[in-house]
Amino acid sequence: MTLGGRSGADPYVSGHGDTSYDVTHYDLDLDYSIHGNHLEGRARLTLVTREEVDRVELDLHGLKVGKVGLDGGPAKHTTRRNRLVVRLPRTAPAGEEHTVTVRYAGNPKPVRKRHLGTAGWEELTDGVIVAGQPHGAPSWFPCNDRPSNKATYRVAVSASSDYRVVGNGRLVDRRRGSRTTTWVYEQRQPMATYLATLQIGRYDVVRLAERPVPVRAVLPHRLRPRLDDALGRQADMLRYFADLFGDYPFDGYTVVVTEDDLEIPLESQGLSVFGANFLRPDWDAVRLVAHELSHQWFGDSLTACSWQDIWLHEGFACYCEWLWSEESGGPAAHEHANRHWGRLAELDEDLVLDDPGPDLMFDDRVYKRGALFLHVLRLTVGDDAFFSTLRAWVSEHAYGNVTTQMFLAFVAARTGHDVDALAEAWLSRPELPELPARG
Ligand SMILES: [Zn+2]
Repeated sequence: MTLGGRSGADPYVSGHGDTSYDVTHYDLDLDYSIHGNHLEGRARLTLVTREEVDRVELDLHGLKVGKVGLDGGPAKHTTRRNRLVVRLPRTAPAGEEHTVTVRYAGNPKPVRKRHLGTAGWEELTDGVIVAGQPHGAPSWFPCNDRPSNKATYRVAVSASSDYRVVGNGRLVDRRRGSRTTTWVYEQRQPMATYLATLQIGRYDVVRLAERPVPVRAVLPHRLRPRLDDALGRQADMLRYFADLFGDYPFDGYTVVVTEDDLEIPLESQGLSVFGANFLRPDWDAVRLVAHELSHQWFGDSLTACSWQDIWLHEGFACYCEWLWSEESGGPAAHEHANRHWGRLAELDEDLVLDDPGPDLMFDDRVYKRGALFLHVLRLTVGDDAFFSTLRAWVSEHAYGNVTTQMFLAFVAARTGHDVDALAEAWLSRPELPELPARG
């Protein structure tokens, strides 16, 4: 029983999330004025208690809370330090369903956090980007902000008709009013809060493929001639990864290219965002197109229970870059592995992959060393066992949450190889192990 204070669910993103309940569905109705950057929201959350509780705590940053309701009636609530605390009229047992409604409004802005920088809702020169990872979701809706709580979503957004609004999942309705258009998106597959996004801009839509799922590029008209530079083989990549890892997990895949340059691209569920500066044909741009796409399997469908296991997203996505290199006639994965092993050997060895700490969770060494560990596993068990294991891993845990221990146990059971010593050396110790020669 936990009736005391809850300081948050994940030590890497302190103060966010509440483990005493799960949100199962988010229903959001948003009115957004682009020029004033003003958001008015109505959120209806369906949740299920996981233990005995007398309240639930939601994350909401920088926005003012209006009326709050519980199960159809008004609710007692307080707000403190970016948490909205909703009191239950009586102590609820585990497994009970409740509905919380929240009206809120304000000028959304990114959430700033020590160690992690900023994330979330951000104004572009002419539009909006939401880059939620890892702590930005509360910048635009009240949520249980932890990666282990996945839910389905319906998001309706009204904005000026001059702009396109892109969200996660399927566009199920678009109603044009006199000046504003309402866009309704449904995300039917469970999604972690940090993967929820909205992209708003003066965008064209380009159809890249219809099969196996609709693949779209959304970008400013002036950038259309440069689309193929980086994204010319986007649909081939999707088919290739689906061959390797099993069916693409969502209803479609959309790549948004912003008019502004961006420091890094970012994945959301069913959607990735690149700055205009990434529309280049060189390997450093193309590898990121592969990287972000692969997160649909590794990160979005299979999501780490806690941020500590971020290598399960980034190590895999980095390895997918190397696999695409192999597939598209570039250097083989082994060549990439050798090159990056050499680079890592020259850097400080003060990071452990299975717990890098919040300061280093997005350190490039997590990406490269994670990919190297996967390559070493491949060399150890052989190509057939390696790829069939990854495929089974993706299928077994689709739309769920995973941990490093689950992955290692799965590999051992599936391949019959004892990978404990290997995993200990690569994941749990800071020294960089030797890279075996190709078998
Ligand atoms: Zn990534």
